[in-house]
Amino acid sequence: MRKAFISPSKYVQGEDELLNLGFYIQSLGKSALVIGNKEDIDRVQDKLDKTAEKFNVELHRADFGGEATRDEVKRLKKIAEEKGTDVIVGLGGGKAIDTSKVVADGHNVIVCPTIAAQDAPTSHSAVLYTADHQFDDYAYFIKNPDVVLMDTTVIAQAPSRFLVAGMGDTLATYYEARATRQSNSNVNAGLPNGYHTKATGPAKGTNAAMTLAEKSLEVILEKGYEAKIAADNNLVTPALEDIVEANTLLSGLGFESAGLAASHAIYNGLTVLEGPGNYYHGEQVAFTTFVQLVLENAPKSEIYELLDFSMSVGLPISLADLDVKEVKYEEILEVAKKACISEESIHSMPFEITVEAVAQAIIAADAIGRDYKEKKQNK
Ligand SMILES: [Zn+2]
Repeated sequence: MRKAFISPSKYVQGEDELLNLGFYIQSLGKSALVIGNKEDIDRVQDKLDKTAEKFNVELHRADFGGEATRDEVKRLKKIAEEKGTDVIVGLGGGKAIDTSKVVADGHNVIVCPTIAAQDAPTSHSAVLYTADHQFDDYAYFIKNPDVVLMDTTVIAQAPSRFLVAGMGDTLATYYEARATRQSNSNVNAGLPNGYHTKATGPAKGTNAAMTLAEKSLEVILEKGYEAKIAADNNLVTPALEDIVEANTLLSGLGFESAGLAASHAIYNGLTVLEGPGNYYHGEQVAFTTFVQLVLENAPKSEIYELLDFSMSVGLPISLADLDVKEVKYEEILEVAKKACISEESIHSMPFEITVEAVAQAIIAADAIGRDYKEKKQNK
């Protein structure tokens, strides 16, 4: 059986780690183009100046336009060419990082997330959008980032909602990996890049990736609440460090090399509704993970463990929590249809999927979640 596991060449995390950025740039070249939202770069400009001086590298900055579009990629590529930079640095949140990966297109790229809100930084893929914020396409690269650099001091300064959203994204990782393994489905790590998939054939997950996925859930359930409190108070504690790692490294390697299943497909389906779009990726994924557990008839203990945890950190457990005011069967059926298109990861579930079963699982999860919240609040 063909199996594959992929990862960035280096993952490094620590207080004020951005002060070492110059060292990593220096290991790849002499100069870099830093791509990020203006406010994100401004927040760390002082550290960028210091590291550039200390390690004698040239840093050029390119303010990110805000959306990961093909035009934005073209514009930034041109700046990189004009400046003749050796390395692309993606700094900030998901879209700036994804854009920087597409600009680098498999060449030297260092990723510096300023939040730990989702698990994409370590991956060899990016999502492109249209100018009006609609999904455009996935991009896959020949390799994962050269370095993923997490400055925990910067991350702890960000609103705690980001860290909590990252935990929501991480909640999905083990359950999706488990379903992928049970159905013997393929994993993203088998995609060498966008061009050579057919030449090499697909690949299944490894024990290594499965172990990381399992660990990601264990850490979230064990340390998530304390990490949220730390982030509320902008503190770097061991619990916060554990969660930054779980959200980024464990979950990142887990999803890419152990597989996605129903949760992320239903998340994609939710885009047909209006309310959920007001919430972060990971916040929506917390709810769609709950839906996956209902869909697969998971043990009661798993379902209530998830609900208890989500409530404790403020993650959504119902559609009402995602601003869906009224649950209409016809609308939910549209969500389910989108989640069940043939390319979707929902077909990695270990049983046959029907649109109706998915719609009913969404509605059932919503009802269980609302009921649970009501009971807790009346206690
Ligand atoms: Zn995700």
